[in-house]
Amino acid sequence: MSRITVHDVAEAGVVGAGGAGFPTHVKLAAQADTVLVNAAECEPLLHKDKEVLRAHGDGVIEGLAIAMRLVGAKRGVIGIKEKYGDVIKLLRPRLSAGIEIAPLRDAYPAGDEFILVYDVLGRVIPPGKIPLAVGAVVMNVETALNVAQADRRPVTDKYLSVAGAVAEPATLRVPVGITLAECVAAAGGATVPDANYIVGGVMMGRLETNHDALVDKTTGGVIVLPDEHVVVRRYRQDWPRIVRVGRSACDQCSFCTELCPRWLLGHPIEPHRAMRSLEFNLVGEANVIGTAFCCECNLCTMMSCPEDLDPKNVCAQNKRRLLAEKKRYENPPFDPRRPELHMANRKTPTARLMQKLGLRQFRNVGPLRDEVLRTAKVGIRLKQHIGAPCEASVRVGDRVAKGQVVGRPAVADGKPALGAAVHASIDGTVTAIDNGVVWIG
Ligand code: SF4
Ligand code: SF4
Repeated sequence: MSRITVHDVAEAGVVGAGGAGFPTHVKLAAQADTVLVNAAECEPLLHKDKEVLRAHGDGVIEGLAIAMRLVGAKRGVIGIKEKYGDVIKLLRPRLSAGIEIAPLRDAYPAGDEFILVYDVLGRVIPPGKIPLAVGAVVMNVETALNVAQADRRPVTDKYLSVAGAVAEPATLRVPVGITLAECVAAAGGATVPDANYIVGGVMMGRLETNHDALVDKTTGGVIVLPDEHVVVRRYRQDWPRIVRVGRSACDQCSFCTELCPRWLLGHPIEPHRAMRSLEFNLVGEANVIGTAFCCECNLCTMMSCPEDLDPKNVCAQNKRRLLAEKKRYENPPFDPRRPELHMANRKTPTARLMQKLGLRQFRNVGPLRDEVLRTAKVGIRLKQHIGAPCEASVRVGDRVAKGQVVGRPAVADGKPALGAAVHASIDGTVTAIDNGVVWIG
């Protein structure tokens, strides 16, 4: 068994590869009874987790076993959709002691860690808390693989799905700091003239107008969509329009709340009540304080609302305002028994979501290309994680080798700030350090 330490994980710059980029060494310094590998991958058209598990199952299992040892957990679980029976069959004979597989329904948002923890362990994470509150640590598939390699290979490459209107949808392995446009070109290029890039996923991603934006350790996918596509139109809506239409058209049917996964868990989030705040220029505080617990899964906007309104953005705006005003529930009320009553019958099938979002026209595949894509230039962002940006540890003109540290979290009073080191992803020379990016060419 590998003797990888929390320090090794920090030095390797491992962060959550599928979400906000929480530094993994901080998670692994805690104590928990269970570690979950989140392979639910519920965003339509993304395939990277399943493909990485298929190609590197032993590494992911090893990373899970290391995480279990570090946090003192006796139980490890890989949560993966039951429809990927071929991958499950490959993994089962390789599982080490204490590790099992939990087959999941093909629903959205199965990959939300609150939902995953409930589906797999039957435990409800209280509103505003993290999985550790119920004794669990949750890791992404790629994060587990990076943990397994932490003593010999820092995080220099990234797996991501390129899908939608491209000639050859694929899961690519690319150097951190490559551009989105290079990834799309490697997938055969866009098949539509006015290509739009949705980064992350159609449900929880963002519309990126700069096609030369840089891939970082958290970039899970690029979905290319034509200009007139319904998803692109939804992302283009500006706030004044969301308010104007929402204010006049919301009939308070409450479908958005009835299907909200966090409400179904018993959390005090009710998007239909948040919609009422539009009548009051967002000051209807009694209606909106629960928006602090919105996970921004976008289900209410993209699927539930029959009027095509945007309750997710209303919740998100309120959430940010409450944060800025430092207003929060101290002891949010919730009823942890409610999921047993409602959850099973109100899951949104991914197939229905894809139908509603007009995604069935695209090939829903993502075969892995495991050779690292070549590029002549990368931009390594000094902030690719939750926490403070790193400080550059190289200077313009320095020669660097792939895997060399180019930035580290700042140290104050002998303690490093929350963050994770960043590394050169190609051999080369530092050509510029500009706007929080170390350029290597
Ligand atoms: S589903 Fe739409 S119309 Fe119904 S309450 Fe929610 S935002 Fe209003
Ligand atoms: S985005 Fe909508 S459905 Fe998702 S948690 Fe927030 S309110 Fe609920």
